[in-house]
Amino acid sequence: MNSWLYALKKRFNLYLEPDMEEEFGHYYVSKHLSVLRFGLIVSLVLFGLLGIDDIWAAPMSKHELWGIRYGIMVPFILVSYGLTFTQLFKKHLQSIMCVVQLVSGSGSIGILAVLRPEEPANYFYFAGLMLIIFGNFTLLGLRWIQATAVSVVLVAGYAVTVCIVQEPFQAGRDDTAYLAYINSNLYLFSSLIGAAVVGYVMERYKIVEFAQRKELERKNEVMERLSFLDGLTGVSNRRAFDAKIVEEWNWALRNARCVSIIMIDIDHFKLYNDTYGHQQGDECLKAVAEALRSSLKRSKDFIARYGGEEFVVILPETEEEGVRKLSAYLHRAVYDLRLGHESSRFGHVTISAGTATAWPHNGDYRRLIEEADRALYESKSKGRNRTTVSGSGKR
Ligand code: GH3
Ligand code: MG
Ligand code: MG
Repeated sequence: MNSWLYALKKRFNLYLEPDMEEEFGHYYVSKHLSVLRFGLIVSLVLFGLLGIDDIWAAPMSKHELWGIRYGIMVPFILVSYGLTFTQLFKKHLQSIMCVVQLVSGSGSIGILAVLRPEEPANYFYFAGLMLIIFGNFTLLGLRWIQATAVSVVLVAGYAVTVCIVQEPFQAGRDDTAYLAYINSNLYLFSSLIGAAVVGYVMERYKIVEFAQRKELERKNEVMERLSFLDGLTGVSNRRAFDAKIVEEWNWALRNARCVSIIMIDIDHFKLYNDTYGHQQGDECLKAVAEALRSSLKRSKDFIARYGGEEFVVILPETEEEGVRKLSAYLHRAVYDLRLGHESSRFGHVTISAGTATAWPHNGDYRRLIEEADRALYESKSKGRNRTTVSGSGKR
């Protein structure tokens, strides 16, 4: 967007942050396009039908008026209507509609310029311009700044053109001429002020509503993300795991691939808490979670905190050998933390793990979890600080 236009919007408190302003632009177009088309149809009908009124209101000038109405304005509005279906229009809606309204307004002023002063309804024709000003701020999709600019130009254009063409102040013309001129200018000016105030309030309302909606969406996104993360360790939580395992299981099923999981449990963690305190226990959990997380290499590998001091890893497309290798890395990563644990016979924090691998046919992923759980139990009963690899291994 032009920087001066942005500054102007800022000046009138009709702006959003630059990135949101662009989004608001798209939103505005999508919301206003059908209303705008309706506005053009209304303009077309009014411009067209008022030609009937010319028969009585301007019998001497009607042919010139019809020339403007049906020779210029009706085709022009039709073309503008067609334009609304193009991408170009959506991209440059404001600029194009400014031109459309300036031309429509000029058509209205043109009608006044060709009207002969002695026509019976000469002094009432300015009302057409009022309708155009009203349209600028409502149906025709202009933003407030643009609508104001176009309307000011048209009102000034009217004052100048009619003053030059109809010479209301010329000696010899009756008083009605200049009184009508002054009055019509006053009415046009008042319409401009009235429509601009209403238009301003409406646009402000739209902008505030848009900004609030965006803020709410952003907060919802954050909440949504947080609801899948474990608050203490920052890795995914059980809820995320429950969704992920179904997703990966189904993917493996569709693509005839295997899927493995590793259940991990920190050894003698209750004793760790008893020895070092709960707070230190929390720090230990965070460190272990991070060590496990950073040991995963593939983008599809996934880790979650399964519960208290238990973690679970999903390894899509990984067979027993790969799982065994990765589990060794996990042991190593935890060992490398060198977190002392004097109440454990290993002298430092260790983990036990149990793995399971399956080639989903139509089976159930819950069996996979049960199997890994069993393997973990076996690691525990065999003395801890080890991995038990299990799995059907059958295709
Ligand atoms: P094992 O080697 O058989 O796994 O023994 P363990 O002591 O690790 O297992 P147990 O299930 O007896 O104890 C788990 C402990 O983990 C008990 C609980 O207080 C602790 N724990 C669970 N969640 C948290 C947590 O968020 N923070 C802390 N500090 N401790 C936790
Ligand atoms: Mg446990
Ligand atoms: Mg434990």
